[in-house]
Amino acid sequence: MKQSRKDDRIQAQMRPGVITRDGLLGDDIRALRDIIEADEAAVNRLGLSHAGIAARLRELRAAGARGLGDPVVVDDTFEISVDATRGRLPCPFGHPGLYPAEVVTVRNLKLGETVVFTRLNIHLIAAHGFYEGIGSPYRLDPATLARVLG
Ligand SMILES: [Zn+2]
Repeated sequence: MKQSRKDDRIQAQMRPGVITRDGLLGDDIRALRDIIEADEAAVNRLGLSHAGIAARLRELRAAGARGLGDPVVVDDTFEISVDATRGRLPCPFGHPGLYPAEVVTVRNLKLGETVVFTRLNIHLIAAHGFYEGIGSPYRLDPATLARVLG
């Protein structure tokens, strides 16, 4: 699909070294719309919504933040740690405002699987249905989220 110039500008913001060192695209060479449409289809197949997934990430983050830096175990299943790092990140889609560069790690103790995400990830999913490109360090695969986060 031919990409609009607006999407070209947004995708340029996602390249390594612009907003984050590693960028948001990984080694994904697809156009931005194609990445978003593929994940939208995956979310629909799972019977989920971007809003629902973002709400679940917010909920787990809030539970983890109560540990004030120490891991918190929720429902005997999720071990959550929130690492508040310095710095703030802008939204590559051009929204005003900055998102704390905080890293949330959720380990599903029953499955032995871990999901790592940031506040920017939550915004990108909720507002843009964007889960990052395949190979990006903070790529959140919808099927993995559904499996690991319940
Ligand atoms: Zn945004």
